[in-house]
Amino acid sequence: MSERKVRVRFAPSPTGALHIGGVRTALYNYLFARQHGGDLIFRIEDTDSNRFVPGAEEYIIESFKWLGIKFDEGVSFGGEHGPYHQSERRDIYKKYVQQLLEAGKAYIAFDTPEELDAKRKEIANFQYDASTRMSMRNSLALSKDEVDDLIAEGKQYVVRFLIEPNEEVHVQDIIRGEVVVNSSVLDDKVLYKSADELPTYHLANIVDDHLMEVTHVIRGEEWLPSAPLHVLLYRAFGWEDTMPQFAHLPLLLKPDGNGKLSKRDGDRLGFPVFPLEWHDPKTGDVSSGYRESGYLPEAVINFLALLGWNPGNNQEIMSLDELVQLFDLKHCSKAGAKFDFEKGKWFNHEYIKMKDNGELADLFMPILKENGVEVSKEMVTTVVSLMKDRVSFVKELWDTCKFFFVAPTEYDEKTRKKRWKEDSADRMKELADVLKALDDFSAENQEKVVMQWIADKGYHMGNIMNAFRLTLVGEGKGPHIFDITKVLGKEETLARIHRAVEVLK
Ligand code: GLU
Repeated sequence: MSERKVRVRFAPSPTGALHIGGVRTALYNYLFARQHGGDLIFRIEDTDSNRFVPGAEEYIIESFKWLGIKFDEGVSFGGEHGPYHQSERRDIYKKYVQQLLEAGKAYIAFDTPEELDAKRKEIANFQYDASTRMSMRNSLALSKDEVDDLIAEGKQYVVRFLIEPNEEVHVQDIIRGEVVVNSSVLDDKVLYKSADELPTYHLANIVDDHLMEVTHVIRGEEWLPSAPLHVLLYRAFGWEDTMPQFAHLPLLLKPDGNGKLSKRDGDRLGFPVFPLEWHDPKTGDVSSGYRESGYLPEAVINFLALLGWNPGNNQEIMSLDELVQLFDLKHCSKAGAKFDFEKGKWFNHEYIKMKDNGELADLFMPILKENGVEVSKEMVTTVVSLMKDRVSFVKELWDTCKFFFVAPTEYDEKTRKKRWKEDSADRMKELADVLKALDDFSAENQEKVVMQWIADKGYHMGNIMNAFRLTLVGEGKGPHIFDITKVLGKEETLARIHRAVEVLK
């Protein structure tokens, strides 16, 4: 058993946009698969047609493409264990439902929704189980003839799992250790519905994990309550030997730690809870996405990896390859992970700093164009290299860098009051002459010559440089002065000085 190739799966139901918690689940499965040289399967659990939302599947696939999470097989990837849409596996499930019925491990139940409602009213905390099933309309309580007649009449039915009461069910969880549940708390879950000839989540999930040779089930904590039932199903089929190991990941909590992170928290606090922008086809609502909000996919990956896991030291910045090396399910926390979106911004800032200047320029150029600026990529690359450590998002580059591309027409009043002295206009005119005479306009040479001029004249360096900056930028901010003038070039630098002298006098 230990020689089985690691095979894990991400198995969403196409019921809407993929929540960021689901993305983390997929990421952990991916890291685990890569680390063990195993396979990651992408399965669509679409047996509940009532909850189907058009576009959800495509959305999920596009999200992973953007994030760089690659699957080895499954929907849209192919493979030998298909089909990978559960809705296309009807016949397979029917066979296994039949197997349970024949073995007496499941039974047929005809109770209508109205009958079930009536029971719920009659019996407090009604549960369909060993204590109640004989008073219901099912193949255990009715005679074989009655059952056959009902089926022949075309009555709809469900197949329920027969759960023996008072048994200890042990779930081995890599993160939580051993979880023990008494089977009496479980109800006889519906495994199959004749009405749509489809199994429910539980049966389809177990049959597919078995047939797809899944070795580890890594999924969100919300599925932990289903795990005892899943263990019992494996047993009922006689598949104990190949039962996957479970790992139920910690919940993602609201930023303040009070309760589960919801879509509404994102709207309320102004951060995305979806990887991509989502247009809800039913309501028409649009929810923001990490991609459209300007996050780099590598930053999102790094941020999510640390929500519920850490490498055991303080290291925070990790590439996908490093994460594959370091990830360890045993180091996942049991306790929920607070969704600290400020930290998400910090990660984006760090990844922008690390990103190649040319690639950043490519991302920034469309924004420049929108603002009517068309300059060479070379210039944008230089500007980006000077300014990228000041922003958290590419879109912030415009406000931070626009003075490189657009000459100031107004001068910040506060800076002017503080930095523009009596003699500033004269000094700037002199400075313009000094710069004009330069053949070599490199930052180094400008700096050398200007410093020499200041020293020779005995001028106050701070006053000169501050006034100079005001002429170039229009306010008191920006990088090293001669980095700016080098990018602007001689002509533009002189023009800006002269204009400022005109305006400020
Ligand atoms: N279809 C379930 C979901 O939407 C899969 C849960 C599991 O991984 O077993 O998350």
